[in-house]
Amino acid sequence: MAVYDIALRRRFRRIDRRSGVLIRGEAGWGEISPFWDYGPAESARWFAAGLEAATVPFPPVARDRVPVNATVPVCDPAAAVGIVAAHPGVRAVKVKVADPGVELREDCARVAAVAEALAAGGGGVVRVDANGAWEVDEAARAIRELDAAAGGLEYVEQPCAEVEEMARVRRAVNVAVAADESVRRAGDPLAVVRAGACDLIVTKVQPLGGVRAALAVAEEAGVPVVVSSAVDSSVGLAMGAHLAAVLPELPHPCGLGTLSLLTGDVSSTPLTVREGAIDVRRVAPDVADAAPVTPELVSRWLRRLDEVAAWMESAR
Ligand SMILES: [Mg+2]
Repeated sequence: MAVYDIALRRRFRRIDRRSGVLIRGEAGWGEISPFWDYGPAESARWFAAGLEAATVPFPPVARDRVPVNATVPVCDPAAAVGIVAAHPGVRAVKVKVADPGVELREDCARVAAVAEALAAGGGGVVRVDANGAWEVDEAARAIRELDAAAGGLEYVEQPCAEVEEMARVRRAVNVAVAADESVRRAGDPLAVVRAGACDLIVTKVQPLGGVRAALAVAEEAGVPVVVSSAVDSSVGLAMGAHLAAVLPELPHPCGLGTLSLLTGDVSSTPLTVREGAIDVRRVAPDVADAAPVTPELVSRWLRRLDEVAAWMESAR
């Protein structure tokens, strides 16, 4: 077992470091890295995912490379163009929109700049992620304008927070709607699909309890799946890459090109993006010394694993 702790390049979800536990079993290494604000019940699924990766071989894969998107945070158009240029070969870009205090015309300008840069660089699609920030009417208007600015969006991710709102937005616009938070943090990850509130779902291995559990969700969903990371180390990204590689069809690039959000990695052979895709392979941590962790952090993780284990015991 090893603990890692790596700084993020820029603040995200109100955190500036990413930390987790890596465990080794007969099948290889697995990652357990629930965010610090998650309680034992939610963390238990992340725990199960890491344990599965370490102890049970992954199912046979259908591909050995997984196309991924680049991500453009809220920034000015010139910076957005720079990010696209820094990702040669990427054929999909996710643009963050609807941040508090940012106007729609600024989001549109960023999206237009990204679409233009992609077209100039060989083509590609633009998707936007609102992280549930819009009201229904606001969403419908914003999506129409962003769609026009992009010359056609691939999809809009989580336009509103509630499933019922997502369904209304989906009926009001001609852009595909993807569910992310509605899948990942819901007691029932497929309620959003059954409500007719999305055209595709974003799935993450750890929050869904492992590759097999996520695969079962994907199969039952019956809609296309975009596999994403939770800003994992390469060990966790390998889990996501295997899920994406096992899926019979993968019509959309995945959100697994996230290693560049971290200032380092746990492996000297990291799952970095090359020509718009990442490899499907196991990764072993071998640079623990490069990012020393404190005994306090190790104790904190051990206490956390104890809490999860106690919760799992009580939930039986
Ligand atoms: Mg999202």
